[in-house]
Amino acid sequence: MKKKILVIHTGGTISMSEDASTGAVQPGDKNPLTEVTKNLTEMADILIEEPFHLPSPHITPAEMLTLKKIIDQYAKQELISGVVITHGTDTLEETAYFLDLTVDTTIPIVVTGAMRSSNEIGADGLYNLISSIKVAASEQAINKGVLVVLNDEIHTAENVTKTHTSNVSTFQSPQYGPIGIVTKRGVFFHHAPTKRECYEISDVSKRVVLIKAHAGMDSSLLNAIHDLQFDGVVIEALGQGNLPPATVEGLKQLIKSNIPVVLVSRCFNGIAQDVYGYEGGGKHLKELGAIFSNGLNGQKARLKLLIGLASNKNVKEIESIFQV
Ligand code: ASP
Repeated sequence: MKKKILVIHTGGTISMSEDASTGAVQPGDKNPLTEVTKNLTEMADILIEEPFHLPSPHITPAEMLTLKKIIDQYAKQELISGVVITHGTDTLEETAYFLDLTVDTTIPIVVTGAMRSSNEIGADGLYNLISSIKVAASEQAINKGVLVVLNDEIHTAENVTKTHTSNVSTFQSPQYGPIGIVTKRGVFFHHAPTKRECYEISDVSKRVVLIKAHAGMDSSLLNAIHDLQFDGVVIEALGQGNLPPATVEGLKQLIKSNIPVVLVSRCFNGIAQDVYGYEGGGKHLKELGAIFSNGLNGQKARLKLLIGLASNKNVKEIESIFQV
């Protein structure tokens, strides 16, 4: 029996076209994917939702929450056995991870996109959409969390990141690799995630900022974040989780005001940890109250902190969600 798959189109290059005279890639009045999706009925019974039509730099946590609500609605009524979301690739990993942390379901949810617009030579959108429907309809994809499928690879939302500005193999999972592949004959998983997390969320209004550490950094940005009354901060720290000594005063001020500071590494492999004992070293920062995250990149740690703050978790509870 054919599976019922919900396809949610949100915009992005996958649904844009290139203007031959100017070379500009942009959304048109109609999403070219909507028509072709209807023709994929041999693969599955397809339901289509199109809540917005945005380039992914225009996507905010509010749109992510809208997607969560749409999926919840269908999944709770047991109307579907899988979901595919088409999305711009710039912030695709953020939407995928937000849904991974907030949608409480075992049905496969697959996020996909394209690096080339619908009328370009070698356009990868339709191909990625077909691969994603195959994965969403696969029994093996059940209870694996939100997956990202492009270029024949299946990645977890937690580990995947966009690594190249234009190459079709841009989505990679540094350190861990993909968990499966899509071939002409089927969908094959060779790994499975070891854990699932799910948090309640109904509001995304908390303000969480993400900044990157650099040699010679001082406290001025941290002081500004404090004065602007942000609710939380994620810092892409140096190496194993260290900061220049001149940032320590700014960090202390944030922590004293109960503003959680989460440290990830600006290295794209490895985990930030409290290793170094010198001033600004990870051990020192941990003693001051900084929270270490276990391997998330900055943009995903920012979303996790936002979700933690939205459910009114205190700093200790927030620390514990970053250890999962
Ligand atoms: N800038 C585009 C977007 O994210 C890139 C893409 O979709 O590939 O909307």
